[in-house]
Amino acid sequence: MRQTNQKSLNHKRLGIMGGTFDPIHYGHLVAAEMARYEFNLEKVIFIPTGVPPHKIERKITSSEFRYQMVSLAIEDNAFFDVSRIEIERTGLTYTVDTIRLMQQEYHEYELYFITGADAFREIFTWRKANEILELTQFIGASRPGFDARVFLNQLQQELPELYERMHFLEVPALAISSTDIRSRVKKGQSIRYLLPEPVRIFIEEKRLYR
Ligand code: NAP
Repeated sequence: MRQTNQKSLNHKRLGIMGGTFDPIHYGHLVAAEMARYEFNLEKVIFIPTGVPPHKIERKITSSEFRYQMVSLAIEDNAFFDVSRIEIERTGLTYTVDTIRLMQQEYHEYELYFITGADAFREIFTWRKANEILELTQFIGASRPGFDARVFLNQLQQELPELYERMHFLEVPALAISSTDIRSRVKKGQSIRYLLPEPVRIFIEEKRLYR
């Protein structure tokens, strides 16, 4: 597993944190903060997904609620921001479209797309993976125990250019997962300290994940 933090002298760097965030939790926040620090990112923009192409079968919380939870979670960090770019797009949201738009808006920046290493494992199925790799670097935030070897071998063979632009960050706090939080709420268990308190209160008030 490689972890690089080469500094580009010509470009400012911007992190784009993509995820469903259903709900956002401390694992995501620690991952974004570690990426910001390790890769000298000027700031990190969280982009909650609209209708993700790989989730049309599973019911996810409304985009607006997921956006609001992200807003609550990042409000005390001046280096973090949240964007509505995906939730306002109609139809399925593909990462390639998002990155194209971000590239136009932040053309003076070098983009770093951050998401879960688990999610990156599926990148061969993403629309226009080859084009994405031309526009951005990748940071895969991995859970403890994540084994990247099979993925990296496949990547090296199928998309060697992407292999060069792929970085991994091991994030112990990613032992927390959205799936586990949803399941805990459903079972009536506590989710305190797994996510920021304003997000926990939001979940309670809106009676999410029951
Ligand atoms: P997912 O399939 O829900 O998540 C896969 C794994 O990655 C889960 O373990 C998840 O943990 C983790 N994860 C997701 N986002 C993360 C983040 N920002 N930081 C750390 N861990 C994260 O993945 P997803 O959230 O729907 O998609 C991730 C990103 O990939 C999104 O930006 C999505 O648009 C993009 N994507 C694009 C395409 C495409 O363009 N065709 C296809 C798939 C995904 P938690 O459940 O705890 O978050």
